[in-house]
Amino acid sequence: MKISVLASGSKGNSTLVSDGETNILVDAGITKSKIEKHLAIFGLSLDDISAILITHAHIDHFKGLEAILKKKSIPVFASEETATSIELCLCECIKKGTLNIDWNYFSPGSQFTFNHLLITPFEVPHDANGAVAYIIEENGEKIGIATDLGCITNSVRYHLQGCDALVLEMNHDMRMLKDSDRPEMLKIRIASKLGHLSNDQAAEFLDTIDASGLKYLFPAHMSEDCNDLSCVKAAILSLEKKFDFLIVKTGQEGPTPLIDLSVNNL
Ligand SMILES: [Zn+2]
Ligand SMILES: [Zn+2]
Repeated sequence: MKISVLASGSKGNSTLVSDGETNILVDAGITKSKIEKHLAIFGLSLDDISAILITHAHIDHFKGLEAILKKKSIPVFASEETATSIELCLCECIKKGTLNIDWNYFSPGSQFTFNHLLITPFEVPHDANGAVAYIIEENGEKIGIATDLGCITNSVRYHLQGCDALVLEMNHDMRMLKDSDRPEMLKIRIASKLGHLSNDQAAEFLDTIDASGLKYLFPAHMSEDCNDLSCVKAAILSLEKKFDFLIVKTGQEGPTPLIDLSVNNL
């Protein structure tokens, strides 16, 4: 499989996963034109996208969905709660009949296949009903995508074991968040168990799971004013376990390289 994080952060999230035949987007939280622009870098267009998986109904995860689906009908996979919340936001177009969404509901925790991909959505603690993270597997390769979660649960720990590539939220550096000018209520929400994962929480989690096969870590949903790559690296370097993976920087400005998991780039 190949993976590129097309965009990551509070302004919009989308990740491309491809096995060469099937191309899927996990979230469509940037505009349609940005998604098209980022896909074009890899010689792809919306016509090549076979499915869209949505993690949850926060706008930074579905901002581009309406425009994409008005251009092309693509099956959308989500929990029923997420689908309901998104339909409420898009109800005007749905009522007018200008938008018809081909929903495919799943139950978090149960696996399904899409073409050759084995997909496992699982619940994460976040302040959106029905929020999930995803595992995508094929031919013994495993990708984990967990971008908005306030804390690590046993289920998160269980599912994210043994990934080859992991898109893991490293939202903020605790000190930078504390010292920031953000309103107190927002700081409390971000740091809560239904908010966003800090660098230290993510790093400690990596220290406790089997990450021996991990080749690529994409620190995701990094706050622009309460985090930076040096803080992310410092949190990981402080761990007792020594890791052998590459850290792939994600952000809003452009996609990461399209990384082929079957090629050893280390
Ligand atoms: Zn969210
Ligand atoms: Zn988000």
